[in-house]
Amino acid sequence: MKFTVLNQDSGTAARTGRLELAHGVVDTPCFMPVGTQATVKSVTPEELEEVGAQMILANTYHLGLRPGIEIVKNAGGLHSFMHWDRPILTDSGGYQVFSLADLREITEEGVVFRDHIAGSLHTLTPAKSIEIQQALGADVIMAFDECPPYPSDRDYTCQSLDLTLQWAARSRKSHTDGRQVLFGIVQGGLHRDLRKKSVEGLEEIGFAGYGIGGLSVGEPREIMYELAEYTAGLLPAEKPRYLMGTGTPDELVSQIAFGVDMFDCTVPTRYGRNGSVFTEKGKMVVRNAGFKDDHRPLEEGCGCYACRNYTRAYIRHLFNTGEILAHRLATIHNLFFYQELMRNARRAIEEGNYSAFEKKFLEGFKPTSDRSDRR
Ligand SMILES: [Zn+2]
Repeated sequence: MKFTVLNQDSGTAARTGRLELAHGVVDTPCFMPVGTQATVKSVTPEELEEVGAQMILANTYHLGLRPGIEIVKNAGGLHSFMHWDRPILTDSGGYQVFSLADLREITEEGVVFRDHIAGSLHTLTPAKSIEIQQALGADVIMAFDECPPYPSDRDYTCQSLDLTLQWAARSRKSHTDGRQVLFGIVQGGLHRDLRKKSVEGLEEIGFAGYGIGGLSVGEPREIMYELAEYTAGLLPAEKPRYLMGTGTPDELVSQIAFGVDMFDCTVPTRYGRNGSVFTEKGKMVVRNAGFKDDHRPLEEGCGCYACRNYTRAYIRHLFNTGEILAHRLATIHNLFFYQELMRNARRAIEEGNYSAFEKKFLEGFKPTSDRSDRR
């Protein structure tokens, strides 16, 4: 992996970069669509390429359970299994174990849990997480961590952080595949000093890049912003910074200004399936009756496949009649909107006027009352 910072904005910490990985080059800041089950729901890899996605995220917990690593291995790895030849990032499975599974026990060794499908008993350790991620064969893999629930008290967060640092060191030790790079994950809850301790501990171990974890878990947005900015500022400038599991378009625009390089979130795909699309003015619920005779595209001037060929009235009709194409068109538009947002942000940083871009976008975009969350 090679990461090069290309432009540094003058008025904010925003920057553009070039991330060179085993399966290709990613321009940063970038947004990774989420392909939990080795598919970005309802769209093909060709459609992902058409919207401009350069990298996607897949999920260790889910793929480790179904279909299991042997089958993916026999297929020649995740890229060939899912027919996507550009970069992939897999998360460590930690977040899903803590949020989805029926947790039995957390020890120094790892986590014992019952999965959310068959209820069978499993143990996930740092070594096991890395073993699964190496078998999947993603370009970027993540250290195994505990993401403390929100809210958690300071004592719990402290203990959890110590454990996460131990697990980070063990993840690092287990990582042997030189074609993949390993990122550490910053935790420390909502406490600045613990965030700092986390960054220092991870830097001592040494990682190719750093995830900012433990945010967008239910805390107020202002607190998320404050801690994302603080944490991004602590991380080494020459390494990629990945803010995990966020967010809505306005959140991304604000957080790019903190110097974040990589994002992932289920929002564009999940909202699309629910009949909500993003425009420069904010979220629009296209399934609403108000659009039944509206023959404009989802967004005037949008270059996506859905907007070039279909109208609000038609897509609303598809939602109204439960047609699968409705989900696909809304998803394609939302993914294009996110990639276009990244392209525009990168251009603004190159031109050195990110502040003006951010201000203009946020003035026009009505914030969604609902929040981004993780898969
Ligand atoms: Zn569109």
